[in-house]
Amino acid sequence: LPLVGLKEERTKIQIKDTVIGGKEVVLMGGPCAVESETQMREAAKAVKEAGGQVLRGGVFKPRTSPYSFQGLGEEGVNYLAEAAAEHGLLTITEVVDEASLELIMDRIDILQIGSRNMQNFQLLKRIGELRKPVVLKRGLAATIEEWLNAAEYILAGGNSQVILCERGIRTYEPSTRNTLDLSAVSLVKELSHLPIIIDPSHAAGRRDLIPSLAKGAIAAGADGLLIEVHPNPDAAMSDGIQSLTPEQFNQLAEELVSVAKAV
Ligand code: PEP
Ligand code: MN
Repeated sequence: LPLVGLKEERTKIQIKDTVIGGKEVVLMGGPCAVESETQMREAAKAVKEAGGQVLRGGVFKPRTSPYSFQGLGEEGVNYLAEAAAEHGLLTITEVVDEASLELIMDRIDILQIGSRNMQNFQLLKRIGELRKPVVLKRGLAATIEEWLNAAEYILAGGNSQVILCERGIRTYEPSTRNTLDLSAVSLVKELSHLPIIIDPSHAAGRRDLIPSLAKGAIAAGADGLLIEVHPNPDAAMSDGIQSLTPEQFNQLAEELVSVAKAV
């Protein structure tokens, strides 16, 4: 693959004190969607207490059904940014178009391009014009080559701060929401210089599998994890079924320490 800037040296992305693609595993957590100020404050506290560095929360939700909760928009950006600032956390949220980009550009540390937009080439080109970290999720049914080419669109524009995120792909197996492709970690490391993180939440679609998938991801060499955590998963407006409670997230973070040390 003609990856722009393919080089021996791996890409490291520094945001304030956090380095993605370095020695430390980066932990990103938070709810699927930003729902309220209280929810985000509790989520931020949980992520901080677990030793996480980045607070997630969607404010523009590209939902499968148009009748599902679509996100709080600008109000949500405020809740996410304020909760993170209170605990000294970085922020990540999904960008879906120019209007959403305008709203989050100066207030959020890391942009997320969702699976459903992985081949939205206009969006990729626009993000390529920026000089800002972006997590590029693998498409629902994208090959690794298609995914790396999507990354290439961003890199070709001059934005070198791309982090790949494997979040499960669609297969014939219905027991899990998607199938986590752990070989993507090893392959991406061979084929490119970009950091790669794993989102076990959207891969599994059920919270009981998250700890083992997260540990497997770190053992395989992933640079970080993006995990859905909700103060009250049963009341979540989206993806509650796959969200960890703060206690479960904390426990997992503790267990991950020894896995990370062993890699
Ligand atoms: C999300 O992170 O909440 C999300 C919508 O993820 P994906 O694009 O992987 O489905
Ligand atoms: Mn989600």
